[in-house]
Amino acid sequence: MLYINGEWKQAQSGKTVPVKNPATGEVIQHVAYGGELETRQAIASAKEAFDGWKGKTGKERGAFLERIAENMRRERDNIAEAVTREMGKPLAEATGEVQLAIEYVEWYAEEAKRVYGDVIPASHENKRLMVFREPVGVVAAITPWNFPVAMITRKLAPALAAGCSFVLKPALETPVSAVKVIECFHEAGLPRGVANLVIGPAQEIGAELTRNPDVRKITFTGSTEVGKKLIRQSADTVKKVSMELGGHAPFIVFADADLDEAVEGVMQTKFRNCGQTCISTNRIYVEDSVADDFGEKLARRVASLTIGDGMQEGTDVGPLINQSAVEKVQDHIEDAIQKKGKILCGGRPTTVEGLSGHFFEPTVIHNASDEMKIAREETFGPVAPIFTFHGIDDLAKKVNHPEYGLAAYFYTKNVDRAFQTVSKLEYGIIGVNDPRPVVVQAPFGGVKESGIGREGGTSGILEFLEEKFVSFRMT
Ligand code: ADP
Repeated sequence: MLYINGEWKQAQSGKTVPVKNPATGEVIQHVAYGGELETRQAIASAKEAFDGWKGKTGKERGAFLERIAENMRRERDNIAEAVTREMGKPLAEATGEVQLAIEYVEWYAEEAKRVYGDVIPASHENKRLMVFREPVGVVAAITPWNFPVAMITRKLAPALAAGCSFVLKPALETPVSAVKVIECFHEAGLPRGVANLVIGPAQEIGAELTRNPDVRKITFTGSTEVGKKLIRQSADTVKKVSMELGGHAPFIVFADADLDEAVEGVMQTKFRNCGQTCISTNRIYVEDSVADDFGEKLARRVASLTIGDGMQEGTDVGPLINQSAVEKVQDHIEDAIQKKGKILCGGRPTTVEGLSGHFFEPTVIHNASDEMKIAREETFGPVAPIFTFHGIDDLAKKVNHPEYGLAAYFYTKNVDRAFQTVSKLEYGIIGVNDPRPVVVQAPFGGVKESGIGREGGTSGILEFLEEKFVSFRMT
């Protein structure tokens, strides 16, 4: 269903689209498939609702967010199941994602009360200078399938807290969980038109969202390619944009690191969500003296992972999202083998009995080199290539990516080396001996072509605010 002006609707054309389970190949459900017309209606209703929502106090908006959080806590398991069924991640991971999504709502429910302005010292004694922070206007949010719930609230909780109304377009792979989340928004009693949801063809909806002058902000998570397109399309109406785009995270292991802990770090940063996250490890750099030892330990651990349907207890790794994801992963592995990469475990698409999903063996490749595709292109799959380095100067030459700069991880016990490494890394998020750096209260975002702007924490709400400077002259 689409959600426009406080009502659940079918598309005017009556069209629907099937949603498939990537583990079983089954159609789970059909959802309404709207287009430009519904998008225009949604924008108009968000525009109509904007002034009223902006006019509420932060405390009032915070109270709505608290109710949304409460509804999501009640629906947590339902939403998590929908996530697993439509995009494949193991249920425990999906539940963790929904929990994180709720925490964004809880955090911004409080932050709504704390949108402060500034008083600036004047240059004349009869003047008083002030900065007010006001909501930017109607927000269009475009979200991906890999974190289909957390990406919604990470954008829309701060948007609502700031006083913005919105139109959400989720990925076509994962509309069911988006509908469930928006149901939680609806049941919180938000004023009509503050929240809107359109599901349909990405290009057509994206064209209207970017072209329409009533949309003042685009917030997007997805591929760098589509992000660039949205920036270009938004240029004509000079919209504010936030972009969370691709990544190519290095995972660095210094010789003094605890190798077992580092192996666990790779397990979490590489194989969670079957490697389909923008902060997934894409290159592992191990100091040469410990590289063989590390490779063996990692391969042993990776070979023990259970592949299967995320609804099945005991599944560690679910399917890839679709067949073209399988082909991309295969292409990266074949290219690595041709360029002298050595497969330590995995390496092939695989099947799980009774299921016709897109499964792939978790893979470790030793002897990775810069000429390989995997050294530069985002794999978005369960492949861990091991590169080696000799000392921090050698590492510094290799570790930064020419285009991407989202997340990086490194393991060492040496404090000096830790600070030196932080200063060499051109990435927006760094985990030092920490494979899980993402928390709601801290800024998430990348440098270079990994993005513009930050989500989470106090930075996240600023993305939805404009500064209004006022100079008072006393006569
Ligand atoms: P991924 O590779 O993760 O699927 P995409 O960038 O293709 O990343 O998709 C992320 C989101 O962007 C999804 O909601 C998708 O439907 C949407 N999208 C894809 N192409 C366009 C486009 N041309 N205009 C607007 N949204 C788009």
